[in-house]
Amino acid sequence: LDVLNYFETKCTASREITERAKRRIPGGVQHNLAFNYPFPLAIDRAEGAHLTDRDGNVYIDFLQAGGPTILGSNYAPVNEQVAAVIAESGPVTGLFHEYELKLAEIIHEFMPHIEMYRSLGSGTEAVMAAVRAARAHTGRKMVIKVGGAYHGWSDTVVYALRVPGTFRMNAKGIPWGATGRTRETFPHDLGALRRKLIENRVRGGTAAVIVEPFGPESGTRPVPRDYNAAVRELCDEFGALLIFDEVVTGFRTGMGGAAGYFGVTPDLTVFGKAVSGGYPMAGGVGGRADVMSVFGSGLDGRSGAHIQVGGTLSANPLSCAAGYFAIREMARTGAPVLAGRAGDRLTRGLQRLIDRYGLPYVAYNQGSIVHLECSGVMLLDMRSPIKLLRENKARKTLMEQMGAAYAAHGIITLAGSRMYTSMADTDEVIDDALARFDRVFA
Ligand code: PLP
Repeated sequence: LDVLNYFETKCTASREITERAKRRIPGGVQHNLAFNYPFPLAIDRAEGAHLTDRDGNVYIDFLQAGGPTILGSNYAPVNEQVAAVIAESGPVTGLFHEYELKLAEIIHEFMPHIEMYRSLGSGTEAVMAAVRAARAHTGRKMVIKVGGAYHGWSDTVVYALRVPGTFRMNAKGIPWGATGRTRETFPHDLGALRRKLIENRVRGGTAAVIVEPFGPESGTRPVPRDYNAAVRELCDEFGALLIFDEVVTGFRTGMGGAAGYFGVTPDLTVFGKAVSGGYPMAGGVGGRADVMSVFGSGLDGRSGAHIQVGGTLSANPLSCAAGYFAIREMARTGAPVLAGRAGDRLTRGLQRLIDRYGLPYVAYNQGSIVHLECSGVMLLDMRSPIKLLRENKARKTLMEQMGAAYAAHGIITLAGSRMYTSMADTDEVIDDALARFDRVFA
């Protein structure tokens, strides 16, 4: 009741505008990470570790736009440098611009295995391009993903192929055929991965195995430390390419990303989010030069000798300059390490509170990616689809309510269960957040 009361009395301007939005915007909310219970908040200001809503309420921002802003939101030093570039060239010309190259070069500097890099419009697009490149390079058809991993919203790699326990597609509008060449394994299950690789031999071979290296949904289902090395070995044994989806982890888990962290080198890597420092059009794919050569130039797409990718706004000066300056600034300031320390402090504090109140929750993190599971169930076993479906429903409702409770106490999370920390999260910010969590748990 306190929570609903907060929204009723303190968020009237948010309510008014998001109600109005329902008339012209389907569902009223467009961002898939936006908060929707009891109604969405409309945000007017973002700065560093804080958000201010339309009613003037201030929140600690652990959504951080879903992960791209490792330096903190609306980071002035990058903004100023980006503004200087676009004051000259505007945000887009459609012709070559030096910051395309500067971005590719700086990514290579910190991730030497990214020998070549192609800028695209989003993580989703970059995944589509990586899959297409893998098929073109290997001449094979099949793709293997891990169930529950999120690789954007394209048809081939939809979140989970089927609604657990049913034969229905997970998402409307995707026909069976669209995922006919995708196979799904369960997290951790290397035996199943091997079996799929064997089965795929008679289906045109496996072009690529795509993984989120810290585990599905940014490590919501964490994988063991040696998992990626084992997947790498299996890919080599079967001649499949290994694609790391580093949309979240690239630069967030260190300047070398997950590849650096695990010491495992993928053939292709998908980037998004931080690769444009929180500016629009964050996406790209990079990796081995011989594989990347299937892209050809942007002019080669319809030649038949190369794959076709495109995008009127891809590789525009705005997002490339923003990515370049943000990455340079992250290296200069040590932002991934600082954000990681904030994540550690937050996680330790949360677990202390959980223990103190004897709650059936758990907090864990991979650096600046912090998970707070309040379902009492760690959904590690995806092999019991019916149980999973039931638990997922219960979990979603609980998480939504917890998310609203955190918001009513001044903390914005991702869906009540995940938090991204940034360099702006000083000890004071984290301790303030923990005091607020204490009130919620109490
Ligand atoms: N891959 C992962 C692991 C992601 O978390 C996301 C987005 O959250 C995507 C791909 C899709 O990226 P985008 O939202 O830029 O299309």
